[in-house]
Amino acid sequence: MRRIYLDHAATTPTHPEVVKAMLPFFVDAFGNPSSIHSYGQEARGAVEEARIKVAELIGARSEEIIFTSGGTEADNYALKGAAFANEHKGNHIITTPIEHHAVLEVCKFLERSGFKITCLPVDKYGLVDPDDVKRVITDRTVLISVMHANNEVGTIEPVEEIGRIAREAGVYFHSDAVQTVGHIRVNVDELKVDLLSISGHKFYGPKGVGALYVRKGTKLVSLMHGGEHEKRRRAGTENVPGIVGLGKAAELAGQEIGKEAERLARLRDHLVGGLVEKIDHIRFNGHPTRRLPNNVNVSVDFVEGESMLLNLDLEGICASTGSACSSASLEPSHVLLALGLAPEQAHGSLRFTFGRENTEADAVRVLEVLPGIVARLRAMSPLLKTPR
Ligand SMILES: *Cc1c(COP(=O)(O)O)cnc(C)c1O
Repeated sequence: MRRIYLDHAATTPTHPEVVKAMLPFFVDAFGNPSSIHSYGQEARGAVEEARIKVAELIGARSEEIIFTSGGTEADNYALKGAAFANEHKGNHIITTPIEHHAVLEVCKFLERSGFKITCLPVDKYGLVDPDDVKRVITDRTVLISVMHANNEVGTIEPVEEIGRIAREAGVYFHSDAVQTVGHIRVNVDELKVDLLSISGHKFYGPKGVGALYVRKGTKLVSLMHGGEHEKRRRAGTENVPGIVGLGKAAELAGQEIGKEAERLARLRDHLVGGLVEKIDHIRFNGHPTRRLPNNVNVSVDFVEGESMLLNLDLEGICASTGSACSSASLEPSHVLLALGLAPEQAHGSLRFTFGRENTEADAVRVLEVLPGIVARLRAMSPLLKTPR
């Protein structure tokens, strides 16, 4: 059976050219970038070349890029690093209820360490109102963290406006841009961020590698102490193959970013149009226009997301009910609840996220299969009192 992968927000297949670029650094070019000899210099050169490529993709300078073990570490570093470096100024942090767990759980940790967290409201599309940010800033505020685009519903936040407000108030501003970097245009100066998180495996790079953008002059406390790697900002021998892969993924993404986004938006629109036509009692989650080009998040009344997912999987279609990170828990998505969905609506949601291997045939296949699955599940649904 042909398998159709529609879960690119969870992870993406590593681009063949990325794999090709990485391979030598496992084999012949295995040197430690801190070594003085030629093996070391070869590895050092590759790491610094990758740093330039990542910086270029987001309009940064290469010395503002710190390599990490992924998006989670970048988020941890940004939040803990900025919080602990600014304890003398205050202990107040502003964030949103729809952040990734890599931000929310860090906020809970910081709360236990004496920080005060304000979680801003979001509207029914998941949008933060910049005026709310302005309203809750105090002279004790040390950090604002608002994601660039949401990984579950695809809503793109008004990061630029929030950045302007943060800058006027002299407060550090972090954005988790894991879902946007490599997919839509991201420029750190336009967004007015001081800190920005990147993950390789969300844009056809390898897993276990990412980066934190740190604007020049931004004070952070290190998470990892040890050797003098990454200019003493992140100790540990560099993940050279991973970093090279991240650099290659950044280079490739930069080449096709606008074109590919348009193509994915057409696939998305095809799927959305077809679902509206073929299944009744559905609603789409996230903002109708301010959204990622590849994301469809749909609530289907009277059925369970997990049941739809398993049935789709039997047909070779791999989608998700929301965040891959919470697929093991039975809790409804914290994002959908924050948007105001009832728990049973949140439970009946599916997320399709398109990527570079998908074609229109994949959207067509979903439209062939899903209506039948929904009809069968509804026929036996205890949530549906009237037989249909
Ligand atoms: C995937 C993801 C992360 C975590 O990145 P990892 O590299 O998997 O640790 C953080 N934030 C968002 C929005 C994500 O989608």
